[in-house]
Amino acid sequence: MPELPEVETVCRGLTEVFPTPIAIAKVEVCEARLREPIVPQEVQSLQGSQVTRFFRRAKYMLWEVGEQLVVSHLGMTGSWRVINSSLRGGAASMAGTAVIEQQKPHDHVLVYLRGDPRILVYNDPRRFGLFRVIPKANWQEHPYFQQLGPEPLEKAKFTADQLLTLSRGRSVAVKNFLMDQKVVVGIGNIYASEILFRSGVRPHRLARRVSRDEFSRIVRESRRVLKAAIEKGGTTFRDFRQTGGGEGHFYQKLKVYERAGQPCRRCQTLIRQTTIGGRSSYWCPTCQK
Ligand SMILES: [Zn+2]
Repeated sequence: MPELPEVETVCRGLTEVFPTPIAIAKVEVCEARLREPIVPQEVQSLQGSQVTRFFRRAKYMLWEVGEQLVVSHLGMTGSWRVINSSLRGGAASMAGTAVIEQQKPHDHVLVYLRGDPRILVYNDPRRFGLFRVIPKANWQEHPYFQQLGPEPLEKAKFTADQLLTLSRGRSVAVKNFLMDQKVVVGIGNIYASEILFRSGVRPHRLARRVSRDEFSRIVRESRRVLKAAIEKGGTTFRDFRQTGGGEGHFYQKLKVYERAGQPCRRCQTLIRQTTIGGRSSYWCPTCQK
């Protein structure tokens, strides 16, 4: 499932491939069923408007379009890619464009651009993603965003003190605490395991038993891990493709995730796997206390 670095990678990829502003000529919906159905009136309202910015909040990708925002969430298996309109239906080829592909099963949304043969395509086999349009004014107050905790890469808001305060009196494993989007956004199963390994804290420890020093390490390692993953273009996923069809290279950097039974890269102890809150968790019994 895409986490913060993967969504950031998609955002940066789109910005690189489509330097804003870009004009939307038409939006075609092939399959409206997603986590919430795509609303035809919303999509039509984008026609003829300009996208002035792609940005990210938590695991949502946002497109600034006039007084509106497109809210795109990749869910579990969503991806954006680029196809060339001149190639649809096997028409004559057109050189010099990014990625040349035909339409695929599970394509939900096709965004046509004005004066540009490329089409932005949203694909989502498991349909947990989102493609909605909301007003830009006070968007942070919208139900999608209202409850979200701070961005882990924002220094002022994501602090050890804040984690300490939020964790007291809570009977939740520290790993699930870090994955709680009200505590901090964008951290899921993979990065929570990696952050806790690098912080020396066992994933099943109760959050309320984690000390301030340990939370300081967790904050520091969260930033390091997420930044390193963004630099590498995210982690390789069975079902996740970056914009342009590439794959992330952070998988090779993982220290514990999906490494059960293999020697710890730091101390050679075999990595263990425990299920916490229904999710597989990986940890080193020597390096983590
Ligand atoms: Zn170890």
